[in-house]
Amino acid sequence: MHADWQHRLLVVGLAWLLVLSVVGVLAANRVPASEVGLRMQAGPGAGVSDDGRVLAIGPGSGVAILRFALPAPDPGASRWVVWMGRDPLESLWLEGDGWSSTQRHFFAPAADEGVLPGGFLLALPGDWRGPVTLRLHASSDERVSLRPRVMREANAMQLARRGVALESAIYAGLFVLALLALALNSAARERSFLALFACTAAGLVLLAAQNGHLYQVPGLGVLAHWGMSGLWTLSLLFAASALQVLLRYAGLRGAVGARRWLDRYCLVLVGLACVCLVDLQALDPLLSTLVWLALLGAGLLAIATLAGALRRHVPLATASLLMMLVTGTAAAVRAGLSQGWLLDAAWTRFGYQVAIVVTLAILMVGLLSRIGEFRNERDRDQLARLDSERRMAREAARADLTVTLQSRLRGMDGADIEWTAFRLLLQHLAPQVPADWAAVIAFGYHGHDVQVVEPDACMPRVHDLVAMRKLALKRLAMQGTPLQQVAQHDGLPCIEALVPLSIRAPGWGVLLLQRSGSEGFSTEEMTLAGEFLRLATMQADDSMAAAQLRRSAELDALTGTFNRRSMDHWLARTFAQAHQQRQPLSLLFIDIDHFKAVNDRLGHSGGDQCLREVAAALRGALEPGDVLGRYGGEEFIVLLPGRGGADGREVAERLRATVERHAFRHENQAERMTVSIGVATRLEAENTPDATVKRADQALYSAKRAGRNCVQVAPAVFT
Ligand code: GH3
Ligand code: MG
Ligand code: MG
Repeated sequence: MHADWQHRLLVVGLAWLLVLSVVGVLAANRVPASEVGLRMQAGPGAGVSDDGRVLAIGPGSGVAILRFALPAPDPGASRWVVWMGRDPLESLWLEGDGWSSTQRHFFAPAADEGVLPGGFLLALPGDWRGPVTLRLHASSDERVSLRPRVMREANAMQLARRGVALESAIYAGLFVLALLALALNSAARERSFLALFACTAAGLVLLAAQNGHLYQVPGLGVLAHWGMSGLWTLSLLFAASALQVLLRYAGLRGAVGARRWLDRYCLVLVGLACVCLVDLQALDPLLSTLVWLALLGAGLLAIATLAGALRRHVPLATASLLMMLVTGTAAAVRAGLSQGWLLDAAWTRFGYQVAIVVTLAILMVGLLSRIGEFRNERDRDQLARLDSERRMAREAARADLTVTLQSRLRGMDGADIEWTAFRLLLQHLAPQVPADWAAVIAFGYHGHDVQVVEPDACMPRVHDLVAMRKLALKRLAMQGTPLQQVAQHDGLPCIEALVPLSIRAPGWGVLLLQRSGSEGFSTEEMTLAGEFLRLATMQADDSMAAAQLRRSAELDALTGTFNRRSMDHWLARTFAQAHQQRQPLSLLFIDIDHFKAVNDRLGHSGGDQCLREVAAALRGALEPGDVLGRYGGEEFIVLLPGRGGADGREVAERLRATVERHAFRHENQAERMTVSIGVATRLEAENTPDATVKRADQALYSAKRAGRNCVQVAPAVFT
């Protein structure tokens, strides 16, 4: 349903209600033309006011003497009747001079009283004239005040009809409000209107019962069985539902404490309503007091709630509070009428009912104008929930990335570290920051150039982009601030985001993201991307440092070749492997010739320099897969996996020649150096290096003896 439509409907309904109420009040207030004076005298169980016009009955039954004089008969006029307002009397009748009237019951209206019975009307015999003395018998569960009046039947009917007109307007108003509340509930899907519907429906039933109209309605007439207690039950239920409406109207959803108290009080009201239905006569006087106190409490709570709403600037809170006070006053007036303190006029009898209708109508408009607020509140709750879910998902992704990076980078070496770190970063970022593609481009990061693109298919595109805009990207990376811009791809708009990598200059790098459409990356997304990037580079740096540390423990500090300890590992590993795979394996034992003399000539540091150069020359002459290590002082070992004796000799010869040709220089002095090499090959049964190393050592020894600067191959068995 459209909001405008709702408002219009409501305004029309309210206007209609107002017109009917005003007309009803004016009409019901008119005094009938004919009325004869009446004096009363109290009998047993009854009391009469000083002016002899108001009779007090109950709880229980009472009798009063009525005295009046009827004028001479008028053939055109209707008969004389005794008429009084419809109060909750168990029974009422007149008798005198051997005549008795029909009995009237509030809870069991007679058929001749019509569908909507007005006041009590007791017709007198048509032929009566002159002074009349009658006894009025009445009984009630509660104290009521009666104001019997003697008038023509036509006038009484007129009075009754006017009362009924006002009551009908009240019912119609409540009925319209109930329908509207139901419609609004289904249109706005806002449960406050359901509470309002319950309240208006309860109000309708309550007022119909209090006016004595309910007991002729099929199905609801059963309430007559409980008499006064039934009325109390309805009052309590109405009060509870009204408090529920107020609770929602005043916006106490957030105020948990106040809300809980109101809810508890409503439960007390409903509980008391149930007790009323138990129908224990003995409890009645106590229950009556309790009900009045409970209703008074509900009224005070309602006023307090509305005062709170006023403080919170709830729409129409002033009007609601004023109307609530008016309703309270009108209810007090009605109570005063029951006590006989006030005149029985339409506004004293029905004023509180009109006030209830108007209050409920104002509450409905108030609730209606709060729909937007309710929605916002609900949306806010939903957004907050979504937000925290998203935050938790991101937190989980962050933790997941950290753990994955740590476990995957552990023990990794060299360029693999950066590549793996960035690949993991992009994979973890993709679900959190959706993009057409994402790439990390780094130059000179730990001495490597890395390009990782997710998904892989976009690699060529990113490659072209980097080739075209490398300088611009570098400049942006150096500025160090993330940014995004609108770009074009295949003629369609897209957003490009760039987050710089924080790596040591002159290295530089960026994370690039591209998303089609014109909706940019949110601040949160950019922050997350930056955070993931920082995580990845931090972990890559750590792993790199760890790898370097590992390597420095494996390498000889002077020559950069494997040290003795790692060489022992290599020996054991390659021999076991070769044995397992039945592969040949050759081993070269290299010793620099007359190195003592070199030391003597160049000094120790000069010797060191020469040692470094020999190692570099040897490494340069080897192939990938060959292992070179410093075995001791100026001795080196070379492992040649997969190569037999002939290959071994060839490599050894190459190494020897390389060193021989190498021109060593120290402090501008040319120096020539040579090496002697012993070659040995693993025998088929050997799975440990010891015997082969020993044979190679022996071959080296014979090379030395053979005049140095030569290669000797160890025979399978030395003799
Ligand atoms: P040969 O041809 O018989 O091998 O003669 P050589 O002088 O090389 O004799 P040997 O191998 O027994 O001597 C090794 C020398 O190398 C002894 C030591 O002074 C020198 N040396 C060992 N380690 C280092 C080192 O780290 N730095 C330097 N400068 N000299 C070293
Ligand atoms: Mg030596
Ligand atoms: Mg030597």
